[in-house]
Amino acid sequence: MTDITQPPGVVIVGAGQAGSEVATALRQQGFVGSITLLGDEAYLPYRRPPLSKTFLAGQATLASLYLKPADVYARHGIHCRVGVRAHRIDAAARQLWLSDGEVLPYQHLVLATGGRPRPLSVPGADKGNLHYLRTIDDVERLKSHFVSGARLVLIGGGYIGLETAAVAVKAGLRVTVVEAMPRVLARVAAPVLSEFYQSVHRGHGVEIVTDAAVASLSQTEDGTRVQLADGRELSADLVIAGIGLVPETALAETAGAAVTPAGIVVDTACRTSIANIYAVGDCTFHENAFYGRHMRVESVPHATEQARTLAAALCGKPVCYASVPWFWSDQYDLKLQMVGLSEGYDQVVLRGDPEQASFIAFYLRKGVVISADAVNRPQDFMVAKRLVADRVHVMPEQLQQQDVPLKTLLQQDAVA
Ligand code: FAD
Ligand code: NAP
Repeated sequence: MTDITQPPGVVIVGAGQAGSEVATALRQQGFVGSITLLGDEAYLPYRRPPLSKTFLAGQATLASLYLKPADVYARHGIHCRVGVRAHRIDAAARQLWLSDGEVLPYQHLVLATGGRPRPLSVPGADKGNLHYLRTIDDVERLKSHFVSGARLVLIGGGYIGLETAAVAVKAGLRVTVVEAMPRVLARVAAPVLSEFYQSVHRGHGVEIVTDAAVASLSQTEDGTRVQLADGRELSADLVIAGIGLVPETALAETAGAAVTPAGIVVDTACRTSIANIYAVGDCTFHENAFYGRHMRVESVPHATEQARTLAAALCGKPVCYASVPWFWSDQYDLKLQMVGLSEGYDQVVLRGDPEQASFIAFYLRKGVVISADAVNRPQDFMVAKRLVADRVHVMPEQLQQQDVPLKTLLQQDAVA
């Protein structure tokens, strides 16, 4: 008789947020087969959010980043191997080739390969003092440059750019954010949010340059010269690019799995186009039943919820991934929490006051709450999550009236 606790069982490639969650959720849901978790970084699975916040600020230790203490993996029979890269899949033979020459058989293969920073492709980008911020090693490299008075140019006014700006300016660096769009957070938030964050950052001394394309980087005696397309020049001691993520699909491609530039294509049960191969997390272009379409979502809640969905599926339970995406970002003493996808909104309704740094912006489409961005409003945010998930139809003034508790709106009709 086959011993199901012995390999081949589930092999997970990518020891990040999603891969680690698949492994532990499998055990929580009663999976008794063997589990191998492989990662190419030198560390046990760790959380990335502190990298651009408390860890960069020197307020969090390396140990505090780990998702689970080392002994948890051993105690749950999870064979966690770090510092090893998987580079080829033979789907027909159900085998995985590793960088150390080993060939691993699998019964089920999970790709949780995340993504890498989108590279800045301008002349001089390969020569200058240009950094990215994705891993512990990236932050360790950056820390020695984080000295008071140093000139930092951040390319990209997204999450990395803004969170790093907040840490850097507090550390005494002279910070400039260069954003290609007319405003920061343009892709994900309404102008009221962008204006609020621009004003907060400027109030702390951050310079924000919008509508600005970087044309080239070059080294001068005065450091790195950042040349903008409109002729302006910035001088920097340190340049960090945070211009988005490229999903890591190369391994999936070796198996012949369907991929697009947006990621590895998976269905609502996290199945790729190849039998017994699944994918979760940032690397996926996944089907979300709530929206009825494929999308990529780059967030911790998505990585963990999709991982739990896959674990349930591998334990034989019926699953259908339909989570409403949500995100958070910490900058200064501001907690931003965002739920839903705001694209296609026709109205933005504010509750609270940006002047008081406590407000929530609701995005409506034909009167239905499709998304919300809350600043320092954690309780309203909890209700907002339900308003979005239930597709509640509201009157804008009901959202605005602060004397009417938001939760009373939950009793209203949902739109199918
Ligand atoms: P990852 O965490 O990237 O893990 C993938 C792992 O797979 C990596 O370790 C990679 O090296 C490894 N790998 C890839 N290919 C191979 C291979 N062939 N063989 C072996 N190993 C491989 N989200 C939030 O919700 N809130 C936040 O505040 C927030 N802050 C963030 C701050 C920073 C600086 C960054 C970079 C991200 C932040 N995120 C935040 C996003 C969040 O961390 C990601 O969405 C999440 O980590 C995705 O998890 P993942 O497991 O899919 O990918
Ligand atoms: P991001 O949030 O996608 O933001 C990148 C920003 O840079 C966008 O505004 C983008 O504009 C702009 N940009 C692109 N090319 C540019 C260029 N050449 N010059 C100037 N600006 C340019 O990506 P990120 O901040 O780099 O973050 C990378 C990953 O880390 C993402 O997965 C992100 O979700 C994650 N992260 C998340 C958090 C959080 O959730 N709090 C924090 C840090 C990091 P366009 O939109 O027009 O491309």
